[in-house]
Amino acid sequence: MPVIILVADGVRADTLRATLDSGALPAMARLLEDGALHEITSVFPSVTGPAYTPFLLGKHPGSVGMPGLRWYDRSRRDCSGPGHSRSYVGIDMRLVDQDLDPAAKTMFELVPNSLAAMSVVTRGLHPSRFFTRGPVFAARTAWTHFRGDVEGWLDIDRDVARRLAAKMRELRPDFVFAAFTGVDKVSHARRHDSTDVVAALRIVDDAIAEMRRDLEAAGSWEATHMWVVSDHGHTPIEAHEDLAGVLELLGHRPIAHPWILRRDPRTAVMVSGNAMAHLYVDLETRSRRWWPSLAAEWSGLVGSLLARDSTDLVLLPFSESRCEIRSRTAGAAMLEWSGDSYTYRPATGDPLGIGEHVGVSGDESHALTLGGEYPDALVQIARIAAAPRAGDIILSATREWDLRAGFEPIPHISSHGALHRDHMLVPLLASRPLPFPPLRTVDLMPIALDALSIPHPPGLEGRTGAARGP
Ligand SMILES: [Zn+2]
Repeated sequence: MPVIILVADGVRADTLRATLDSGALPAMARLLEDGALHEITSVFPSVTGPAYTPFLLGKHPGSVGMPGLRWYDRSRRDCSGPGHSRSYVGIDMRLVDQDLDPAAKTMFELVPNSLAAMSVVTRGLHPSRFFTRGPVFAARTAWTHFRGDVEGWLDIDRDVARRLAAKMRELRPDFVFAAFTGVDKVSHARRHDSTDVVAALRIVDDAIAEMRRDLEAAGSWEATHMWVVSDHGHTPIEAHEDLAGVLELLGHRPIAHPWILRRDPRTAVMVSGNAMAHLYVDLETRSRRWWPSLAAEWSGLVGSLLARDSTDLVLLPFSESRCEIRSRTAGAAMLEWSGDSYTYRPATGDPLGIGEHVGVSGDESHALTLGGEYPDALVQIARIAAAPRAGDIILSATREWDLRAGFEPIPHISSHGALHRDHMLVPLLASRPLPFPPLRTVDLMPIALDALSIPHPPGLEGRTGAARGP
């Protein structure tokens, strides 16, 4: 059964539902007649790029070496250039495939007859089977990006839709992954409740109508799974915290994009989304140190950050199976995990607002956090804290704040990246009922592989009825 995944990048679950209800998306409404609309959780950081790894590698981004849109390489082995860091905004995007864990198989490596558009991950695809990175297309997206041209992004979505439909007629692919970035770009510049978000969704809707017509004409629609999904939500921003500037004022000599070259930096500030950040301290040490060995020197910095309105949660990884969670307003707790067992113990407070839980499974922890401010936080925090390339101090911003003051070509009056529900919950519109309803975007790859009758590679972190990940 062919599987088509269409990412309406940045659309919130409630926004998609309301737009469907308004009648503005007739092709999606037709999908819903025979299918289902789910609300599932994305990944932390809830940001494009990292949040595509669940769809294409069946794993959380930190687990495959992409802990954020920007990260610092302590080892200085993987990022050997000046600054020893990555920012996938811009030219480093070409390095995504090589940064990802080579042991984790991509959908494109597992499904030879695949096709992709605007995918950050392309490993395993023949160049004739994706359009994102050809020199002409890359130059066009770069020009659109640096001009901050929202209308230009919508034109790119229309172009993607047209080329995608033509390629699908030509190749009859078994697996398609296509991202439409219009909703995200419009939301950043004009807010997520802008009517232009509906215009961006209508481009996706028109693309669905055309693909469906073609597949019906070819007699293959009945066998096709088509999923419309997102990778993160959006919330309005009232204030920007210049996090790198804060560290500078505190005397910690940070590097942060775009200024990653300086003599004797002491810290690295790597923001994603822009509502989360990895902070790296003690940059001379090439291997990862855990918080207990850093606390003596860096507790003051954490205290200073927790005194700022922009900080919601601070995550302090203690080991590969333990992480302290501190909140600006609700005290601290400890999270421990082992396999599929999670234990959350409030200490000086209850930052996640869920009370004590001992030895709950990933599924149980999803259920008990879903209605609160931090859906799926136990699993999400465990995965990012254990990620080898994660920061020593991980920040999730307060609602209405983000963590970067400038340098964005498109104005950022709306943001994402954080652990809170309006960034983490995403819609999944499926054209037919799924045999095992997913909880998370990371569950979609095993479900796709089942539909394609392809065995699961080892190490998937998603789960289906047939096989459960950790
Ligand atoms: Zn965005």
